[in-house]
Amino acid sequence: MKVKQIFTTYDKAKQARESRYQFCALCGVKLKTVENNGKPIRQCPACGFVHYENPAPAVSILVTDGENVLLCRRTMGRFQGGKWCLPCGYIEFEEDYLTAAIREVKEETGLDVGIKSILSVVSNFFTPHLHTAVIVLLAWVVEREIRPADDGESDAVQWFPLRGPLPEMAFEADSHIIERYRETRLAGAPVEYHQNNTESHNMT
Ligand SMILES: [Zn+2]
Repeated sequence: MKVKQIFTTYDKAKQARESRYQFCALCGVKLKTVENNGKPIRQCPACGFVHYENPAPAVSILVTDGENVLLCRRTMGRFQGGKWCLPCGYIEFEEDYLTAAIREVKEETGLDVGIKSILSVVSNFFTPHLHTAVIVLLAWVVEREIRPADDGESDAVQWFPLRGPLPEMAFEADSHIIERYRETRLAGAPVEYHQNNTESHNMT
């Protein structure tokens, strides 16, 4: 299979992106578009603040017991609502990415997991205003009982066999990651074990 890290779901040439940010976050003056190394940036004419826009850093977690993969169904009304995805979410400012991953799985599935390795890092270009850079992690289950999500982001959580069939997936990157893991069983780069987990576990 072809290994892939970049996933684009809209035509960047046809859907030109204009910044949605109108006013300076520091002083409230209307931002202006200026050229910076040949690219337009939004800058405050009063205080010089530049409103940089970057892909959002996120984590996505392949939780497996070796035979099954844990998926969440996204709540209707959210981006790609009604479709299934790996537990995922944005990294908060005070968090390291491992803490973010453990928190997201707990919030979305009720499960306590340990992080084993970095499976991949992917870039997603979803819409003109939603670009993400996602660290994809492999995790094993410390506690196996699923309970419904309490954050309102998903309305169902279910184990699916790694060999398939999988339900309708929200993100091409997730399908690719699951397929690659199923075919190669490559765990990727091991991570330093998280301090909140004192027991050492091994999936093999
Ligand atoms: Zn300003």
